[in-house]
Amino acid sequence: MNRIYLDNNATTIVDPKVKDIMTPFFCQQYGNPESLHSFGMQLHPPMRKALDQLYAGINANDEDDIIITSCGTEGNNSIIKSVYFNQILNGDKNHIVTSLAEHPSVAKTCAFLEKQGVEVTYLSLDKKGCINPQDLEYAITEHTALVSIMWANNETGVIFPMKEVSDICRQKNVLFHTDAVQAIGKIKVDIQKIPIDFFTFSAHKFHGPPGIGGLYIRNGIKFSPLFHGGEQMNDKRAGTINVPSLVGMGVAMEMANDALEYEKTEVYRLRNKLEDAILSLDDVIILGDRKYRVPNTLFVSIKGVEGESLLWDLNKNGIAASTGSACAAEDLQADAVIEAMGVNDDLAHTGIRMSLSRFTTEEDIDTTITVFKNAVERLRKISTVY
Ligand code: PLP
Repeated sequence: MNRIYLDNNATTIVDPKVKDIMTPFFCQQYGNPESLHSFGMQLHPPMRKALDQLYAGINANDEDDIIITSCGTEGNNSIIKSVYFNQILNGDKNHIVTSLAEHPSVAKTCAFLEKQGVEVTYLSLDKKGCINPQDLEYAITEHTALVSIMWANNETGVIFPMKEVSDICRQKNVLFHTDAVQAIGKIKVDIQKIPIDFFTFSAHKFHGPPGIGGLYIRNGIKFSPLFHGGEQMNDKRAGTINVPSLVGMGVAMEMANDALEYEKTEVYRLRNKLEDAILSLDDVIILGDRKYRVPNTLFVSIKGVEGESLLWDLNKNGIAASTGSACAAEDLQADAVIEAMGVNDDLAHTGIRMSLSRFTTEEDIDTTITVFKNAVERLRKISTVY
C-alpha cells in the first residue's frame, strides 16, 4: 500500500539532501568542537556556515544571539523561565500575557509560573481562531514582563497578527516572544520587518533533523540559561553541540526559505483542493479563514463522525492525519484550542487535522479525497447521532 503522510505539523520527513549533508559528520568529520585538536577545530567552519544560514533564514543581525537547543519545547521553556528570573524574580514585574492557542510548551510553562505567584493573562480566541490585538492592548499593564504569542497555530494553522502584536509591545515597552515553530518553512519570517525580542524554532518541523532547534535573543536583552554547565553558545546554553544536526538544521532552513514560493502556490493549491472536496460534503466546517492560515494546514470538524474513528479509517488506508497536536494525540478530551474558538463539544470531538508539505503530491491528495469521502459516508451510516 502506498502510504500518504499528511501529519507534517507533527513532524516532517528529513529532506534526503539534508540527510546527505549531515552524513559525513557522524563517522568522518567527527569531534567535539570545543577540543583543541584538528578533529574539533575542523568543525568550526561548517558550524559557522550553519549558523550563518540560520541568521540569514530569519534575517537576524550579527549582534543578536541564535542559541542552539534540543527542540522547540526547550526554546520556549528557556525564554519564559529566563524572563521569570530576570524581569520578575530579580525585577519589578509580575505579569505575563499569552493566549489560549499556545502549544503546551508555552501554556504549561506559564501555568507552572502561575504556581510560583506570577499573574498570567490568557487572551481568548475568536471564532476564526485568532486573538484580538485590542485585547492585548488592554491586557498589558505596567507590571507586564512578557508577551508570548505564537506566530502560527499548530492545529488550525491560523497565523497570528505578528506585526500588530509587535507594534503594541514596542509602544508599551514590553518584551515580546513568539513561538515560531509552525511558521518557519511555511511563511516568510523576517525579524527586521517584524521586531521580536525572543523567537523559537525547531528543525524537525521544516524537513531538518529531529532533536535540534534554536532560539533567537535580540541583542542587549538579559538572558539566563536553562541549563548550566559548559560554556558553549557564549555561556547561554551548556551542553556539547550536536554538530551533524546543526549542519542539517542550517541547510534545512535555507532550503525551507527557498521553497517558500512553492509552499505559497503549490502546497496551498493542493491543500485547497483537498479542502474544497471536503467542503462539498454536508455538515462539515473548516476552522480558520483560508487566507489567514499557513498554506499547508486544514482542520475540519465533521458532524456525526468521531475524529478518532476517522483517523483509524484513514490509517487503515495508509493515510496519516491527526486529531490534534501530537503531544495530545492520546488524549481524547476535546482539544483546548478548538474549544477556545467556541466550537461546541460535539463538533470539537469530530476534528481532524491534515497538514501537507512540499513532498505531498497531487496523487496523494486525489487518493485522500476518495478515501476521506468514503470513510465519512461509512462512519455516518453507522453513527447513532447522525
Ligand atoms: N510549538 C509549537 C507551535 C509546536 O507545534 C510544537 C510541536 O508540535 C512545539 C512548540 C514543540 O516543538 P518540539 O517538538 O521541537 O519540542
